[in-house]
Amino acid sequence: MPQFIVVSGGVISGVGKGVTVASIGKILQEYGFSVTAIKIDPYINYDAGTLRPTEHGEVWVTYDGGEIDQDLGNYERFLNMDIPKKNNLTTGQIYKKIIDDERAGKYLGKTVQFIPHIPDEIKRRIKDASDGYDFCIIEVGGTIGDYENIPFLFAMKSIERDIGKENMIYILVTYLPIPSHIDEMKTKPTQQAIRMLGENGIFADFIICRAKKELDNVRKKKIEIYANIRSDHIISEPDIDTIYRIPLDLEKDKMGMKILNEFKIIPRKNPDWTEWKNLVNNVTNSGKDVTIAMVCKYINIGDYGLKDSYVSVNQALQHAGANLGFSVKIKWIDSKKFEEDENALNELKNYDGIIVPGGFGASGVEGKIKAIGFARKNNIPFLGLCYGMQLAIVEFARNVCNMKDANTTEVDEKTEYPVIKILESQKDLIKDQKYGGTMRLGAYAAILDENSIVFELYRKLGRLETDAERIKEIKKESNQLFRLGVLNENNKVIIERHRHRYEVNPDFTKQIQDKGLIFSGYHLRTDGTKLMEFIELPNHKFFIATQSHPEFKSSLNKPSPLFFGFVKSCIK
Ligand code: GLN
Repeated sequence: MPQFIVVSGGVISGVGKGVTVASIGKILQEYGFSVTAIKIDPYINYDAGTLRPTEHGEVWVTYDGGEIDQDLGNYERFLNMDIPKKNNLTTGQIYKKIIDDERAGKYLGKTVQFIPHIPDEIKRRIKDASDGYDFCIIEVGGTIGDYENIPFLFAMKSIERDIGKENMIYILVTYLPIPSHIDEMKTKPTQQAIRMLGENGIFADFIICRAKKELDNVRKKKIEIYANIRSDHIISEPDIDTIYRIPLDLEKDKMGMKILNEFKIIPRKNPDWTEWKNLVNNVTNSGKDVTIAMVCKYINIGDYGLKDSYVSVNQALQHAGANLGFSVKIKWIDSKKFEEDENALNELKNYDGIIVPGGFGASGVEGKIKAIGFARKNNIPFLGLCYGMQLAIVEFARNVCNMKDANTTEVDEKTEYPVIKILESQKDLIKDQKYGGTMRLGAYAAILDENSIVFELYRKLGRLETDAERIKEIKKESNQLFRLGVLNENNKVIIERHRHRYEVNPDFTKQIQDKGLIFSGYHLRTDGTKLMEFIELPNHKFFIATQSHPEFKSSLNKPSPLFFGFVKSCIK
């Protein structure tokens, strides 16, 4: 049975619980323990798949096709592991399961009630997701005092009763505002959060104080007395330059040992932070910068929420930079700018590289196509992700293959050259899988061309799944076998995650390839259809794009091969 650490948040949402959970997990890993993390989202949506990026930040895609809130992304990036979709619980999932069971007669005529059925279903899911780990950290989303948190907190108490308090600790992550007109850090909202947590029968074992500045002794004392908690269990976590520094900061306060002591567990090994420290320093102050232009779309909502729409891409760029000894500076540029004014494209010359991330719909597409053409013609390093690859193909078809007005059918259904479209056979497959809609979601294998630049990058960074045993293992893990498609033992295989509907139209691949754009990898479906996964231009500084989202498999100490290659060529 794992030891449980329950983390809830006080005062405001967005206090940094997710990163705190990820950091504590990272610390415990460094002490030699296996750790998993669960995110509870109290909203009624079944998952984050239908949430707009500006509403909730970018959607995180798990290897098994879950569309989840960003926190799972932070867990994966810090813990360096694949976390399945079952590690995300929403109110919608819990109620749907119970109502479906009730309709199927599974309750055998009993009255189905809030208690015990809701907490029981929550507990069942937590048990399933945490099984086999030394520690399981559970993040209860939302803010203490939210009505919708109550069933989850009730379930936590119920787990505590089952396993004993000695196997469970509670952490409150709270926020201490410093109102500008008095310029003083206030503890009152935190006191109220402590009280509201207490109303649920929960008394925090640790309080982590987020604030603009370090917590001083006067405020510490106030919280100590109010919460009746040891002062060395009140931990200051002020704003810092990069999230990756948080584990180091918490360790300055001996967080790891304090948690282990609370559980009366002795460490399995001594942490070694040398490599991590190095990388963290590179993220923000390596002394050498590389600047990247991200030509994108979800940015016209003021300055807020902008970065969150592309958080995994931002992170993946930083991971790559840090491993190359460079700090990455990103400029987000609204692609519409290039539609209104062609001359604006010249601005792109000021950057070391251009990235076009994923996206949906017609708006801003022509601007992205122009930016890609500019990168291609001016030999500027370019990386295209998902829509970024599709639009690179549209650009090439129009301007090199003379396919006038070539397009994706997502934008123009009547185009004479539908180089990107929804494949008929794909439609059926997707329908059968009932993937919350019609998307190709989750991890898919791709077979790489051994003479390609893409292959070289994956090989160098140790990301080839060459081992036949490993492939068998993945086959066992995934019960949706078609994701691996048809593979033979000699194939050079990689696995990346996906989230899209449209595909490269096989009717045009030959014509495009004849003009010099190389398709360097594909997924081979059991029905024989090849889904194109990578493209590259051989005589270019760096011109690579992928149908996948490699940003979902990047962490600080294991950067994604394509991002690594891209940033490296931006540096040159
Ligand atoms: N809109 C494109 C599609 O659905 C690309 C999606 C994406 O970039 N994630 O295929």
